[in-house]
Amino acid sequence: DLKIHFPMKNNILFNKEKRFVKAVDGISFVIHENETLGLVGESGCGKSTTGKSLLRLIEPTAGEVIFEGKDITKISTREMRDVYRNMQLIFQDPYASLNPRKTVGKLIEEPLLINSDLSPKDRLDRVYELLDVVGLNAYHANRYPHEFSGGQRQRVGIARALALNPKLIIADEAVSALDVSIQSQILNLLRKLQQSFGLTYLFISHDLSVVKHISDRIAVMYLGEIVELGTKIGLYDKPLHPYTQALLSAAPSIKSTNRRERIVLEGDMPSPVSPPSGCKFHTRCFAKMPECELVRPQMRDMGDGHYVACHLYK
Ligand code: SF4
Ligand code: MG
Repeated sequence: DLKIHFPMKNNILFNKEKRFVKAVDGISFVIHENETLGLVGESGCGKSTTGKSLLRLIEPTAGEVIFEGKDITKISTREMRDVYRNMQLIFQDPYASLNPRKTVGKLIEEPLLINSDLSPKDRLDRVYELLDVVGLNAYHANRYPHEFSGGQRQRVGIARALALNPKLIIADEAVSALDVSIQSQILNLLRKLQQSFGLTYLFISHDLSVVKHISDRIAVMYLGEIVELGTKIGLYDKPLHPYTQALLSAAPSIKSTNRRERIVLEGDMPSPVSPPSGCKFHTRCFAKMPECELVRPQMRDMGDGHYVACHLYK
């Protein structure tokens, strides 16, 4: 039941009534060990905020984040260090997160310097090992990020994330800035690394084809809520929520038998400051019923690991 509400400034303008941006508004999900959970939705739906809050880079307003049996929202900064070792983030634009004045070798060494007791010699060995693991080599260690292509830079970002042998990797739009051909190389690398090291991924993306490629299960977010969650096959073959149906109808499909009639969503996603009442999707839903404006639909278990929050399913 994770919530992340940001207080708004200039409260006086609104009759002293406190206003909040409800970026994440009571979501619940499980990520199983060794799986990839895709988190998909339009930009601004709360995906990145969710990802960051798992690492407490953004503190949750309410709710729990249970990692290996422990609610990490309640532990000390000291204890959080172990968590940081086990949970790592990969960003969309590795270039922005890589110090341009440091060589790639130094950049990969950084997490080891901060969070391990390795000797300089062992650190260097580990850097070479990591370069190899992500498909680069020792020759790249002395070069600078600007000498690298986007795909190579993302490999460096992945090497850094892997440096401390994490268990969970949160990838936020990790391939969104890359060309399609490079995207699949990086996705294949991530899959290979998952198998080799038993990694668990939360894979955040607005791009349904990317999420489909890599995920075992998928959660669909809309305006700070998860509206549908299912296995990849369940969700793509039989999307239940009107929002998921609309998203999928807009995504290109290779198999002609899978071609869906295009559902065009009207308008933009409403503001999370004053979200619509009842079902937050009702302002754009083609299947809207009178009760949709009044009652927030609860998540329902539809069997086979498929869950949906919509009044159409009772
Ligand atoms: Fe549409 Fe109503 Fe379902 Fe919301 S609850 S998605 S408005 S049918
Ligand atoms: Mg984002």
